[in-house]
Order: sequence, then structure tokens, then C-alpha cells
Amino acid sequence: MHIQWFPGHMAKAKRQAIENRNMVDIVLELVDSRIPESSRNPLMDEIVNNKPRLVIMNKADLADRSRTEEWLTHFNQSEKNQQAIAIDAFSHSDITRTKKIIKEMMAEKMAIRKQKGMKPRAIRLMVLGIPNVGKSTFINQMIKKNRAKTANKPGVTQQQQWLKIENDFELLDTPGILWHKFEDQKVGVKLALTGAIKDALFHKDDIALYALDFFIHTYPGRIKEAYHLSEDMTDKTYPELLMELTTHLNFGDDFDRASEKLIFDIRDGKLGAYTLDEVPVEPEETKVSGNE
Ligand code: GDP
Repeated sequence: MHIQWFPGHMAKAKRQAIENRNMVDIVLELVDSRIPESSRNPLMDEIVNNKPRLVIMNKADLADRSRTEEWLTHFNQSEKNQQAIAIDAFSHSDITRTKKIIKEMMAEKMAIRKQKGMKPRAIRLMVLGIPNVGKSTFINQMIKKNRAKTANKPGVTQQQQWLKIENDFELLDTPGILWHKFEDQKVGVKLALTGAIKDALFHKDDIALYALDFFIHTYPGRIKEAYHLSEDMTDKTYPELLMELTTHLNFGDDFDRASEKLIFDIRDGKLGAYTLDEVPVEPEETKVSGNE
């Protein structure tokens, strides 16, 4: 489903996310491991506020493993109340691992409740993320066993229900869908290349040229290998390369068709696992200048 975001929708989504955040113990923020930064909502920090947060780098099966490790380190170090995990939502063991981490993150809070003599209760969760990061898939995998809808609780909006997961968790059944970043053209191209934006917001050949540039620099040899090209063609410009690819695929001069094929092949993982976002380099600590 592609959602058209208008200012009114954004304000409502944000308001709802904040309301829900107030009802849960921990926020599960889903991102796409191929674009851990570009698939985050610009206001996520403000929305999550100081709630404990588990950043779930989903679709890790499609992403570059070494980059994923770098991103995990980055997320684990950047916020106090935040941890990160990389998963494939379809993997049973990854879902089990996720549940274990959530319990560990909440252990202290639950122990304090117990000390205070309060009745033990399930950990309340919500899922947040932009479209297509795998929210519905993740929720379905989390509740695979023991699926049971509990009755509405006071304060819960009419449409929303808590899904009971074993005796340990209660998960809000509808994920918070937040908008993606629009301002930066490059972010848009990355979202399009991974399939997060399906509508033709960009020219196909712009996305294809970005993809050629990215793959040739980051994963040399993959384009050549995937399309059985005879040479590396590192001396060619990207438009020349796109022309070459079009001819090679017997698409005549239909560059759009070749662009589309390249984009779909990359989305399908035919060019291998990849990560488009790089971990930001921490700004050097501001040095006190003493020699002036
Ligand atoms: P939502 O819009 O955030 O609810 O995303 P969906 O749950 O509808 O998932 C979007 C697409 O990503 C679907 O085609 C899913 O099958 C796919 N998907 C979700 N999680 C994973 C994952 O961990 N790995 C892979 N390879 N695909 C996934």
C-alpha cells in the first residue's frame, strides 16, 4: 500500500504515535537494513521521546552484513535508552531473539514493579516505522502462536486492540505508520530503489544511474557479473554504461526498459545483498583553539 502524505495526515500520524507511545513500555522502531537512516522518520526521536526503544533493522537478509554490524554499533551507542537488533522477519530464531532482547531491556522496570508490590503484567509494545519496512510481517510473526485478541482496555482507541503474545507481551495490533523523509532528493532515490516508494516520483533512468554509480563504486564487479558484461567498463560514464546495458539486454534504445530491469533486479536481490546508507561519521570534537 502506498500512502500519500499530506500535512494533515502527518500531523495525525504523529499525534496518534505519541498517544500510543504513552500506553506502551517500549517502542519497536522498524527500519530497512539496506537504508537504516533513509528509512527513519525525521521526527522519530521526538515521537519516541525518552521511552525505551528497540531499533529493529529488518530485512537484514537483503543487506550487506558488515555494514549492518556498523549500523548496529552506531544505534547501540547513539541513545541511552536504545538498543538495536538486525533481523529477517521471516526467521523464527530472529523473532525469538527479538523477544528475548525486549525482556532483557524491560527486566529492571518489571523488577521494580514487583518490588513495589504491583501485580506482574505483560510488557506492552508498539511498532512504528515508515511504509514497507516490514511492520505487518513482523507483527504477524510475533503473534504466530497463541493468537488472541484481548478486549479493549480503557484509554485505547476504538479501532485498536492489544494482541497477546504468550504471557509475556501485549502488542498494539495496528502499527504506527509514519512518513518518510522527502526533503533530500538522494533519500528519495534510495527509497525508490529499495521499493519503499512505488509510485513514479522519480524518472527510472535517474534511479538507474544512481544505482550504477553506487554499485560500481561500492561493489565493483557485481554489474558486470549479473549481466555477463565482457569488461568492467570503469572508464565509461554512467549514461554510456546504461546505453551499453540496454544494448546488451537487446532492448534497442529503450533505456527506460533497461533502467526498470536494473531497478527490479536490485530490489529482488539479484545483484546481491547491499546497504545504501553509510554510518554517519561522528563530527570531530570541537577543539578549543589555544593558539590564537
Ligand atoms: P509494512 O508496510 O511496513 O507493513 O511492510 P510489509 O510487512 O507489508 O512488508 C513489505 C514487504 O517486505 C513485503 O513484501 C514483505 O514480504 C517484505 N519483508 C518484510 N520483512 C522482510 C524481511 O525481513 N526480509 C525480506 N527479504 N523481506 C521482508
